[in-house]
Amino acid sequence: ALTAGIVGLPNVGKSTLFNAITQAGAESANYPFCTIDPNVGIVEVPDERLQKLTALVQPKKTVPTAFEFTDIAGIVKGASKGEGLGNKFLSHIRQVDAICHVVRCFADDNITHVAGKVDPIDDIETINLELILADLESVDKRADRVGKLAKQKDKDAVYEHEVLLMLKEALENDKPARSVEFTDEQMKIVKHLHLLTSKPVLYVANVSEDEVADASNNEYVKAVREFAAGEKAEVIVVCAKIESEIAELDGEEKEMFLEELGIEESGLDQLIKASYNLLGLATYFTAGVQEVRAWTFKKGMKAPQCAGVIHSDFERGFIRAETVSYEDLLNAGTMGAAREAGKVRLEGKEYIVKDGDVIHFRFNV
Ligand code: GDP
Repeated sequence: ALTAGIVGLPNVGKSTLFNAITQAGAESANYPFCTIDPNVGIVEVPDERLQKLTALVQPKKTVPTAFEFTDIAGIVKGASKGEGLGNKFLSHIRQVDAICHVVRCFADDNITHVAGKVDPIDDIETINLELILADLESVDKRADRVGKLAKQKDKDAVYEHEVLLMLKEALENDKPARSVEFTDEQMKIVKHLHLLTSKPVLYVANVSEDEVADASNNEYVKAVREFAAGEKAEVIVVCAKIESEIAELDGEEKEMFLEELGIEESGLDQLIKASYNLLGLATYFTAGVQEVRAWTFKKGMKAPQCAGVIHSDFERGFIRAETVSYEDLLNAGTMGAAREAGKVRLEGKEYIVKDGDVIHFRFNV
């Protein structure tokens, strides 16, 4: 399963945020595909479409979909020099599919900042630099090897070497691999390198309690937004402390508390949605009287693969996917009405499933 890693310097609020994640935590029994590991927190994906479908179908049970956050602890500075814990830090990042980079945007004299002062951009660059240096080492090693073959006029090697040089130039200028524009063909080579800085990133600005509702005057947040815009990355503002309080509440209680705070959606919920997107994930639904359920698939997946998310038998014996879009179903009011209106399609093996599709799979056993 794809996972988003929570990364950041010490004392920026990572553990507090991760606690909020595990507290909000989903029943792992519902999600057998998820990892059981103290460093992994399973979160349910908030999706209002699921409530609407539930109202429409009135099933016995409703199950949201879920995915995983991984807490990446460890020492950051000097990590690329390969010293003990630092090395571990990098190998943990290597295993995640997207990065949520937490930065401290709250001033609190009681809490020591590792660098002596609150400076989110400096924090971001400290971590990014370690990742860049580690990648530079991988790229250099590979470029040496491939360079030799390229000299012997090996066509594939010449092509790959070019890509490696593009990467090297970016990394040497302190730019992450994801900032380089590659063609699809070149991208295949880049993917093979499993670079740390090609993973998608979003920044999590951790603000103080009195700024959750409106952080627009927070200079640190402004700076982070500016930096992130340069990387076309998203910024989510949270107050980790408050998030861990919200995470203990349910339904109505949670709504009342948010209203009191003057916020519409908790920072954690925003973070969950943004991370889900960052991982390239999307949701389709099954809607039967027994159960209305959201399922996660990777954007671009075809109908049989999506069926395989439910059960491998569904993929193996796939015949057709009876599909209606969420909007069409909602407009029609019932599945029967949607069918009469000609909105229910019979899709085959090559159909690329869309976010919001409501699907009934037909399969042979
Ligand atoms: P980590 O080292 O990044 O995991 O940071 P922690 O989550 O342990 O937080 C470091 C310290 O900052 C702890 O004392 C937290 O209580 C405090 N802290 C975390 N988030 C907030 C916040 O949003 N506001 C304030 N005032 N303190 C926070």
